[in-house]
Formats: sequence, structure tokens, C-alpha cells
Amino acid sequence: MTGACSFSPSFKFLKTNVSVKRCRILAEDPVAWVPLRYPVSAITPGASGDGIRRTKGGRRPGCHRSFDSFPPPKMLLVQYFMGAFVAALLGFALLPGLRGRKKKKWGGGEGNSAGTRNGGGGGGTEVIVVGAGVAGSALAYTLGKDGRNVLVIERDLSEPDRIVGELLQPGGYLKLIELGLEDCVRDIDAQRVLGYALFKDGRDTKVSYPLEKFDDDVSGRSFHNGRFVQRMREKAASLPNVKLEQGTVTSLIEENGMVKGVNYKTKNGEELKAHAPLTVVCDGCFSNLRRSLCTPKMEVPSHFVGLVLENCELPYPNHGHVILADPSPILFYPISSTEVRCLVDVPGQKLPSVANGEMANYLKTIVAPQLPAQLHDAFISAIDRGTVRTMPNKSMPASPYPTPGALLMGDAFNMRHPLTGGGMTVALADIAVLHNLLTPLRDLSDSSALCRYLESFYTLRKPTASTINTLAGALYKVFCASPDEAMKEMRQACFDYLSLGGVFSCGPVALLSGLNPRPLSLVCHFFAVAIYGVGRLLLPFPSPKRLWVGARLLSGASNIILPIIKAEGVRQMFFPASVPAYYRAPPESHR
Ligand SMILES: Cc1cc2nc3c(=O)[nH]c(=O)nc-3n(C[C@H](O)[C@H](O)[C@H](O)COP(=O)(O)OP(=O)(O)OC[C@H]3O[C@@H](n4cnc5c(N)ncnc54)[C@H](O)[C@@H]3O)c2cc1C
Repeated sequence: MTGACSFSPSFKFLKTNVSVKRCRILAEDPVAWVPLRYPVSAITPGASGDGIRRTKGGRRPGCHRSFDSFPPPKMLLVQYFMGAFVAALLGFALLPGLRGRKKKKWGGGEGNSAGTRNGGGGGGTEVIVVGAGVAGSALAYTLGKDGRNVLVIERDLSEPDRIVGELLQPGGYLKLIELGLEDCVRDIDAQRVLGYALFKDGRDTKVSYPLEKFDDDVSGRSFHNGRFVQRMREKAASLPNVKLEQGTVTSLIEENGMVKGVNYKTKNGEELKAHAPLTVVCDGCFSNLRRSLCTPKMEVPSHFVGLVLENCELPYPNHGHVILADPSPILFYPISSTEVRCLVDVPGQKLPSVANGEMANYLKTIVAPQLPAQLHDAFISAIDRGTVRTMPNKSMPASPYPTPGALLMGDAFNMRHPLTGGGMTVALADIAVLHNLLTPLRDLSDSSALCRYLESFYTLRKPTASTINTLAGALYKVFCASPDEAMKEMRQACFDYLSLGGVFSCGPVALLSGLNPRPLSLVCHFFAVAIYGVGRLLLPFPSPKRLWVGARLLSGASNIILPIIKAEGVRQMFFPASVPAYYRAPPESHR
């Protein structure tokens, strides 16, 4: 019903192209025919929404009977009194309901009963977005900009204070530009990021992003996540057809295998429902709602322990810093002109306790001695200030069951180790793919047809998503210290390969940064590193022991990357054009 009421803004379109089915739905839905919330001037043809003034009977003005066919004046008087009597009765009966409805009314939508937000009428909700984090707010703005009526329900609309999503890769920045959101990294003291510096056993090397072909403005950006998210929320909410509401979604409303909307609780504890033809769940890495839309296969290989270093200079300004430490990597990057984020990876499920001081002890005795001297004192001061935060590093391949009426997006849908800072880039790239798919469709009401059509989303997103995901997983395993001789060689080979410069550093960093989303290129570079490692072992003279280590290095490299590729889906990753859904055309009835 909701979608049937989402009129095309084109008067001509409705006048000539309204299908029989659509007319029937409209006729059965009196609310759809009386867009009361518009001022009268806005209901005149071409002025807004469908641009058609409608009468209570559901007819267009041109469909009224002509004046000379009206009954004589005496009969008119009787009809007038009868009408007034019936209207008064109806008024008494409906008044309490109408009052309740008025109370629940918001922005562009209308409630159809107490506690319900419905996608009815020309301004009814077309898309519900659950969660206004990175993915949700970017999606709401993107769809809102296209004229869709979007309701965003976010648990907490105050500025987030988190240790996640602070470095946006240049590929992600390009997506921000594509979505029209690039101004959200302005005026938040965001820092330009031009590449990475790697540190291992006292040596270091700089790996720059290959940005020569792009405008000067294009680079990575690092910032306070909360400031960035808040800017995107503000930008989305600035659109008249996007409504941001604070509330916690408790469940999806499902009927006959279709998602029709959500149940949610407002901050006042009021329990409400919202209906729309499409619900996009972007409730992040701790998603409670994804279970009904996918089979989550989650791994938590490690945690990040986050600290903020104040007023310290990084050895390479405007670069992310990766220390190949023991047992696992440590990251540094600027998040403002005066602050540097440090993320210490701690492998395994269990973290040293922050409360009893084990964590501070671990950071001071195990981590601090491995840091570049320039960062040591600021790191110790950050520990002493006691503002240590932790987050689990989850990885979860995308494995949705396409469900009519709903989609997953962002971390609720797909996660990878945050070592390479790829999460926001994948989320923004996914939104760009979805946006392109939805653009030709005005009517989202036939959920089943829409769901079949959107199956191509899962294939079209693969080149970017699988490249970033696979690299993150593989690089994390290679960068972790290992007692195994072969894996030690692989780690050293990786550092030395990236130090070679030219295509050997540009290639991998272009993959990591989302500038070159080619899975095949990733596999080539990964095995090139392994072969480089084996070659070094065999030169100048191979010994049986070195041959054996080389063979184990190759098998270890395969054991790292092949399971990740398998989880991503070999066919979708390397032969996307062979997936039937790849060529799916938009459903006729929706255009
Ligand atoms: C330690 C760490 C560091 C990271 N660093 C980077 C990095 O440097 N660069 C990068 O690109 N990626 C990074 N990531 C990944 C990145 O943070 C995520 O990919 C990104 O935030 C995903 O955005 P999202 O919108 O899906 O989730 P979020 O940004 O987490 O947003 C989810 C939103 O949903 C809301 N919500 C949750 N449940 C409900 C509910 N029931 N009802 C209503 N609202 C709800 C939440 O309040 C939140 O606002 C990192 C991840 C981790 C764990």
C-alpha cells in the first residue's frame, strides 16, 4: 500500500501511465487520495507530489459530474442536511482516533492507527533506515537526495565517541564525492592521509597512495568518527523528505516472508511501528537484527586497544603508521591537528583487564618497547591518562538470504579485520551500487520483484568489497608474528616487497585503499610476495632445509588466502559476469 501511494513527481507520468493495478490499490486506500498535510496550493496540478488534486471520492477534478446533471435545489437541501448529520456522527466516532493520529504524525508520513507510522499517501515512508552510523546516514542522504521519503531510526543521535571508522581510504573518499557527501570531512579538523609508513625491526619504509591521476583534493582522510557521522546525519536531516528519529528498533515486522517495517521504542519508552516497502538495516557490528536476514559466520581474531596520543609528531606526517610488532601489528594515524590515534592489536578472545591494571602493564612492558622512539613518551602519557578503549575486531563475510522488503548494509552485512581501515570504504561503495540500482525505480512497493532485481547488488558489489575484505584478512595474518620459520619469511618478504617501490608498493596499496578494486590483481600480488620470499630463500644456493621452508611458505600463503576467497565466493569474485543475477533488468512495473 505504501509504495502505491508514492506518486511520481511527474504529473504527465501519472496522467498517462497509471497502471490498472495501481489505480485499484489507490481506490481502495482513501488516505492515499486525500493528501491533507499539503496546503491547498500544493495539491494543484504540477505543484507537488503527484500534482493532482483529488476529491474524497477519489476522482480527479476532471472526473466530476457536470453542473447541469446535479439534482434540483430542494433535493440538494435534503441531501445537505443528511450529509451534515452523517458527517457529525462520523466526526464523533472518529475524533478520538484522529486525535491520536495527529499526535503521532511526523514530517512527511502519516499514522494510520495509534502507535503506527505508515508509508501511506504521496509522502509516505518509502525507505526505513535502521541506524544512522556511517552507512545509515550516508544512505539516508543518498536516497533522500533522489526525492525518496526516508525515515531513519537511530538509537542515539548524540555525537558518537568511538575508536572505529577514523581513517577513510582514498577509494572511500571518491565514493563520498560520488554520493555528494565530501563536505562532511570539511571543518572537522580532518587530516589528509597520503599513504602508509611500515616499521619492522628498526627499519622503516614509506608506501604512498598512487594519487597522481586524481585531483589534488583526493587522498585519504582521518578524523574523529563522531564528528564525521554527525556531519552526515545533519546533511541527511537537512533534506525535507528525510526524517531522523531517535529510537531503538527492536524487531522487523515480517508478514508471509516479507519485511513490512520495524517495531521500535522511542527514547520516551513509547512502542511504535513504522511501515515502508523497503527497510535497510545498518545497525552496525553488534547488529541484533541481522539474524533474520543472513547467516552470520563471525570470527573475532583479535581486539583493538585504542589510545589517543596528544601533541606528538608522527615520523611521517600525513601517513598511517603500521608497526609490525610482536605478537601483532600496531597502528598510528592522526585524527586531528593535535591528536594521534593508536590502535594496538591484541590477538585472541581475551584481553588483559583494564580495571586491575593488567592492560596498562601489558601496554608499557610488551608494546611500548617496540614503538619508534619518537612516539614512546606520548604513548606512555596516553596510558597514564587512563583513557584506554577496546573493540573486538570482527570479520564476517556477506551471506544474506535475499528477503523481500529488506536489505542489510554496512557492518551489519559484512565485516573485515580493521587493520587496513576498509570498512567505511566498503559501506560507501555498497551504497553507491545500491543507489545506482534504485535510481531508475520510482515505485518500491512490489517487494518480491524488487528483491529479485536487487540480487544483482550482491554480485555488483563484489569487486570492491571482496578485494578489500580479502586483503584485510590476508594482511592481518601475514603481519602477525609467528614462531613458524616459513611464516617469518613471508612476513619479511612482504615488508621487503613493499619496500621495493614502484609497482610493488603502488599495486598493493591501490588495492588496500579501494583505488583498484580488482581481486585478480590482489591474488597476483599476494603470490608474487610468496614467490619473492621463496626466491630469496633459494638464492644464492638452495639447501634442502631452505627448499623445505620455501615449500611451506607457499603452502602457508595458500592456506591464508584460499579460505578467505572461498568465503567471499570464487565465482562472484572472479567471474561475476557468469552469475545470472548480474544482468537482471529493473522490474517494468517499478520504473
Ligand atoms: C576498532 C575498529 C577500528 C576501525 N577503523 C576503521 C577505519 O579506520 N576505517 C574504516 O574505514 N573502517 C574502520 N572500521 C570499520 C568501520 O568502523 C565500520 O565499517 C563502519 O563504522 C560501519 O558503519 P555502520 O554504519 O555499518 O556501523 P556504525 O557506524 O557502527 O553505525 C551503526 C549505527 O546503528 C545504531 N544502532 C545500532 N542498533 C540499533 C537499533 N537497534 N536501533 C537503532 N539504531 C541502532 C548505532 O547507534 C549506530 O549509530 C573499524 C572497526 C573497528 C572495530
